[in-house]
Amino acid sequence: STMPPLLSAIANAGRRGVLVKSAVVMERLGQIDTVALDKTGTLTEGTPHVTDLRPLPGSGLDEDALLALAASAEHPSEHPLARAVVAAARERALPLTGAEDFTSVPGQGVTATVDGNTITVGAPARLLGTGADARPQRDVVAELEEAGRTAVVVLRDREPVGVLGIADRLRPDAAATVAALTRLTGRTPVLLTGDNERAARHLAAQVGITDVRAGLLPQDKVAAVREWEAQGHKVLVVGDGVNDAPALAAAHSGIAMGRAGSDLALETADAVVVRDELATIPSIVRLSRTARRLVV
Ligand code: ADP
Ligand code: MG
Repeated sequence: STMPPLLSAIANAGRRGVLVKSAVVMERLGQIDTVALDKTGTLTEGTPHVTDLRPLPGSGLDEDALLALAASAEHPSEHPLARAVVAAARERALPLTGAEDFTSVPGQGVTATVDGNTITVGAPARLLGTGADARPQRDVVAELEEAGRTAVVVLRDREPVGVLGIADRLRPDAAATVAALTRLTGRTPVLLTGDNERAARHLAAQVGITDVRAGLLPQDKVAAVREWEAQGHKVLVVGDGVNDAPALAAAHSGIAMGRAGSDLALETADAVVVRDELATIPSIVRLSRTARRLVV
């Protein structure tokens, strides 16, 4: 065809299921030399399932009551972990209570008023104390995380009442994609995640990633990207969540996973993987490099 190379690369990317938003973006993708991958929803499928329900002794809650409480608070959230909690409650046909005053903190969790109580669901590292009184909860969390699960703590009026274990499947093309990106850039991708270190390392080992930055808030992901770019690297960030949006914006190039992706991530990213195959990402970088050679 007589289409300019970058436009025909965009059309080609579209056929592979990747929406590249502009010719400038198409051109920049071929320049990247460092890749930062998010974990939940990016390396994993993003449809996690609740595997463990652990009401704490003294909470007065059984498994169903704990799950109903957490699901009521999580209901307004679009986070993959929130969807898992709500889906688990639906499977057990538990009645949910309307949540009021819902707030969510990206990378940390949610808080809402349920039946007059303040319910918080989120990251143990940010919600559990370090004192001896929090020891029983921390032991449950550690046990679940050793098993590769994401542990989420439920608080009622600031008191821990239970822990949920949530597991997500690795994408079938995750390891092959990491290997292809390593060949393309000469550098193994880095894992940037808000999840805990144990679950992150467990998953990284399965895809051949050794550089793992865990427990990150959205601004920490941005700081990591800025640090590499200050060293002269051109970074590609791949993510799906609201928590990834600032890093997607800060990076040389940002790609969002479309199916599980939050609206904010899709709007902020330079390109969107619509067909939900991670393996299209190295192929789009290759397309860009070819088009750039034809342009110059
Ligand atoms: P990732 O960077 O791996 O995509 P996030 O930054 O979205 O993960 O979340 C980091 C951690 O924050 C989660 O592992 C969880 O502990 C907590 N978290 C975030 N949002 C929620 C939520 N809606 N419900 C429960 N926990 C949450
Ligand atoms: Mg994510």
